[in-house]
Amino acid sequence: MQNNLITWYQQNHRDFPWRQNEDPYRIWISEIMLQQTTTEAVIPYFERFIQTFPNIIQLANASLEEVYKLWEGLGYYRRAKYIHMTAQIIVNQYNGIFPQTYQEILSLKGIGPYTAGAICSIAYHQATPAIDGNVLRIMSRIYLLKENIALNKTQKKITELVQDLLIGYDSSAFNQGLMDLGATICRPLHPRCEKCPINTFCKAYKHNQQMVLPINIKNIKHQEIHYITGIITYQNQFLLIKNPTGLLENLYGMIQYDIESPYRFIEEFEQQYQIPISIVSHIADIKHVFTHRTWQMHVYHFVLNEPIKGLFTLDEITDLPISTAHLKVLKAYLKTK
Ligand code: SF4
Repeated sequence: MQNNLITWYQQNHRDFPWRQNEDPYRIWISEIMLQQTTTEAVIPYFERFIQTFPNIIQLANASLEEVYKLWEGLGYYRRAKYIHMTAQIIVNQYNGIFPQTYQEILSLKGIGPYTAGAICSIAYHQATPAIDGNVLRIMSRIYLLKENIALNKTQKKITELVQDLLIGYDSSAFNQGLMDLGATICRPLHPRCEKCPINTFCKAYKHNQQMVLPINIKNIKHQEIHYITGIITYQNQFLLIKNPTGLLENLYGMIQYDIESPYRFIEEFEQQYQIPISIVSHIADIKHVFTHRTWQMHVYHFVLNEPIKGLFTLDEITDLPISTAHLKVLKAYLKTK
């Protein structure tokens, strides 16, 4: 897998001004700019910045106002402030030479594990993972990880997996290969698996789960309830239940469970209804605010292999009383068709 990815990267990598050489200063500036901004938007800012401050000493000697001026329009100005501070730290503590160990780089202002990993691998070819949302998504798919990637323990597990994958390979090409793969092929919504250089190693592709993974359920707050909400279909019919009690008493709606994973949904459903279902895809994450609570509905499409009581066609559904929350769910599903 590593060889496939690295060869693909060497032949297809995207051409960015920060990829012209392996200067840690340029890589650092680009990685900070890219944190909240798209590559296309960053290019002109990066070029102006490097033209004005071609090295760390010139950046350290500039005023904060000059740095802010070049940052104007990029947003998240704290990044500019930290870049300026870090340049001064490097000049004062490291004689103006960019530090070379992961721990030293991580200790600098505004540099987290991802950026430190990216700088160490791209500039110094050290075997350091650079784990961002792209890598979490790709790894979750390759290894068919059904855990929530928003959780620290899942992120730790993925970091260890990547750490192992890097041993003995060109970490710069591997990490940048993952970055490019995530941006162009293994995209969040419609991964282009047939064009993927590592598809023969991908368990999600093998089991047709690439439209479901990763599981990414964030910010589980106390006053919010997170549901896995199922659009369950049988041919052109939808499974709806009439709520016997609760907030939506007597209204029809989708089946949903207060759980964290669509795979757990299958278990709950099959236990309750004694009929097998299969998962098809992630549809949307929908928020609905009631007076006293908020529902965060993580909507997935499932199919029944056999009919069951409670199936309705779309025409029949228009005559049923349905909660607004679940009308939103239905609309989101129909939009994908
Ligand atoms: S085969 Fe598809 S899901 Fe797997 S890594 Fe490639 S693009 Fe992503």
